[in-house]
Amino acid sequence: MYNTAFITPARNSQGLTMAKKGFFTRNLHSDRNSKPEHGVLHKAIHPSVAYGYEDARELAEVFQGKRPGYNYGRQLNPTVTALQDRITGMEDGKATVAFATGMAAIAASCLSLLRAGDHIVSSAFLFGNTNSFFGTLANFGIEVSFVDATDASHVAAAIQDNTRMVFVETIANPVTQVADLTAIGELCEQRQLIYCVDNTMTSPHLFSPRSVGASLIINSLTKYIGGHGNALGGAVTDTGLYDWSTFDNIYDTYRQGDASNWGITQIKKKGLRDMGASLGPEAAHHLAVGSETLPLRLDRACDNAQTLAEFCAQHPGVKQCYYPGLPSHPQHQRAKSLFKGFGAIFSIDLIEQLDCFDVLNRMDTVIASSNLGDTRTLAIPVAHTIYYEMGPERRASMGIADSMIRFSVGIEDIDDLLTDFSEALAV
Ligand SMILES: *Cc1c(COP(=O)(O)O)cnc(C)c1O
Repeated sequence: MYNTAFITPARNSQGLTMAKKGFFTRNLHSDRNSKPEHGVLHKAIHPSVAYGYEDARELAEVFQGKRPGYNYGRQLNPTVTALQDRITGMEDGKATVAFATGMAAIAASCLSLLRAGDHIVSSAFLFGNTNSFFGTLANFGIEVSFVDATDASHVAAAIQDNTRMVFVETIANPVTQVADLTAIGELCEQRQLIYCVDNTMTSPHLFSPRSVGASLIINSLTKYIGGHGNALGGAVTDTGLYDWSTFDNIYDTYRQGDASNWGITQIKKKGLRDMGASLGPEAAHHLAVGSETLPLRLDRACDNAQTLAEFCAQHPGVKQCYYPGLPSHPQHQRAKSLFKGFGAIFSIDLIEQLDCFDVLNRMDTVIASSNLGDTRTLAIPVAHTIYYEMGPERRASMGIADSMIRFSVGIEDIDDLLTDFSEALAV
């Protein structure tokens, strides 16, 4: 048996009772499940990198995966384990591995599971850095086809004999396209492909990728789960739905014991231990505390986003407003049926007489900043910043106009935000 100490079953003896409770309750009481030292209500921040053993044989057994335990901080830390268990609980998954950032989670998952000669079908509407990373993969012999994933037939048409994975986001950034999540899940199941869903924009509060058959779920913890812009982190969760015994790329060393652990074990061993982008215990603590108010924050941010998007949609200074909560949005019905809310990101294209920099500079409450998922409302002129490097052609193919501003709506008083918008957009 391999070292599965990091895999805490979502339904252990205490978990059985917890599993019946609601999202809030389960997350708030998650740390108590593992009976923490002194009965602390927050899992302690454990800075220790190494762990001592009185019996050297025990140390060897931990290394060999024959007994649970900690060996070295790059692979495992108690504070980080507690956060991983929270994410597993939120996503109703089987196990989670946390990383230093969301990008580390994406890169490590792909690099540990895929090999030269493999192929990924990805949504063309993608977080900029994921898009850039997929470009890098081509240099390592892993080819990526980008398709309009709002229609599963485009994904189906791009599948090749060597396709191993389909990668999509729930609500894409910045034009807010909603992928054909259910039909793509059915397709991946039929074709035995790893279905990797980046749930960052919706978070497990608004959407459960497991419900559409996702194999792996990515969350940038930096965004809504942490929620306060004070810590970076990322995670990959195995839902337990993919049959790893059918996957050729699992190394022989990890093809032992329960096959449902093989994928996440390989991600942990290759992606975390060998590549080393480990989450630190202090950041894990910040992210865990932040996650406790995820539903409160996100519900309020979604309400604010809906109001602001409706305001912008009818404003003469705005050429186009992109938000899944608007009935005019092409995937409005899909978003309504899949998600508990329409998210807190929306974008606008300005009319020609308005300059995106001037509009942003006239804003007072809204901050010009690149992050998203913060409690504060942040805005960014995307073509000139986060999507600058990809160049005008790829931007045009993603529907990103030079005048586009993306808003990540926070939890401020809506009247203050409305005042900001009406003053800044005055034509
Ligand atoms: C921010 C983001 C990431 C990357 O997360 P980091 O923690 O910033 O590395 C990945 N996917 C999406 C959809 C994101 O918004």
